[in-house]
Amino acid sequence: MMDESVHEKNRELQRKLNQILKQARDNEKKQELYETFGFEIIGASTPEQLHDLLLSQIVARFQLLDAVLCLIDHQKDVERLFLDRNEKARLDSENRLLILDTSKDPEIIQSLTHKPILGTEALRKYHWMIANLKTQDRIKSAAFLPLLRSDRIIGALMLLSHDPYRYQEGIGTLFLQKLSAMTAVAIENCLNQQRIKEVSYQDVLTQAYNRRYFDLRLKDEIARCTRRDDDLICMFLDVDHFKKINDNYGHQTGDLVLRHIVSLIKEQVRSCDIVARYGGEEFVVALQSTTLHAAQEIAERLRQATYSSKIILHDKQLQATVSIGMASLRGMLTAQQHDADFICATLLDRADKALYEAKASGRNRVVIFTDPIR
Ligand code: GH3
Ligand code: MG
Ligand code: MG
Repeated sequence: MMDESVHEKNRELQRKLNQILKQARDNEKKQELYETFGFEIIGASTPEQLHDLLLSQIVARFQLLDAVLCLIDHQKDVERLFLDRNEKARLDSENRLLILDTSKDPEIIQSLTHKPILGTEALRKYHWMIANLKTQDRIKSAAFLPLLRSDRIIGALMLLSHDPYRYQEGIGTLFLQKLSAMTAVAIENCLNQQRIKEVSYQDVLTQAYNRRYFDLRLKDEIARCTRRDDDLICMFLDVDHFKKINDNYGHQTGDLVLRHIVSLIKEQVRSCDIVARYGGEEFVVALQSTTLHAAQEIAERLRQATYSSKIILHDKQLQATVSIGMASLRGMLTAQQHDADFICATLLDRADKALYEAKASGRNRVVIFTDPIR
């Protein structure tokens, strides 16, 4: 007959074994969860996919209360490359993506450590990261994870929990470190891909967008404005007698004039408007969510600014003028019945016709397309 104490010991051992097995299974699950997520962020092919994973899905997948991503804008392009305008508005209101400016926020950037910090210390030290969150009052513990690329810090990820025991000083950080390493790689890849794309969409001489980019974007912008019932204005601009400028002053001076005109256009339009070089000395601008009346004022100011600005060469002054033709999406009453390609082509054709009209009626003027049928 076995001793009762031996039975007890056996049961105790069994309990311990079960506990260890459970912990192993939990760890395996956890590892799988982190790895799957890591592979997904590495595989994200657009900034939109990456935001979705890093700012929304991360919360649900890891059962967090909230998460904040902070990026250091080393090359002053993060906002442009990483966010489209709509997304910016949405994220701003949620305060989950923070972009640090290297010239405006050097102290904050300096304060980002290269080692993860867990627990309430993370909340104390980096309170500014959570200061504008709606969930702020319910946060009980946090993991601050620096995003490092070859020893350079590119940002930080803050995981936030309502559970005070979730992130504590001294608990293992291997999973979290792997996650932050993969996040850093994914973000850097994504930004670099966007940078390459941007270069291929840019006109080398003037730094305006090129025609390829314009054609792609115009379609998106038309779709967006149609959805919102906003108007969109397409503006064609052509330098007057540009051939003479080349003939009289040389091709290089001609190039200078083209750059000058682009800087004047950019001064007059908003940063969300798309300015592109459509051909030699011809430019196109898409002004979205604006009225024909407002666009006409912009065009008129631009024409005037070009006319009155002198381009100074070593010994002479040069004056250029531009002709502008415009057409509006609203002006196409039947737009809804046609496909995007047709609408784009028609809009451009109308602006081009108006430009022709501006040339024919004496140049240095703005003409709005009017539909002869209406
Ligand atoms: P209009 O008022 O009717 O527009 O007359 P224009 O002389 O401006 O028009 P035209 O189409 O006859 O001439 C355009 C000139 O632009 C011809 C071409 O050599 C020049 N051009 C095209 N691309 C460039 C460029 O990149 N740099 C320079 N300097 N000239 C260019
Ligand atoms: Mg011309
Ligand atoms: Mg031309």
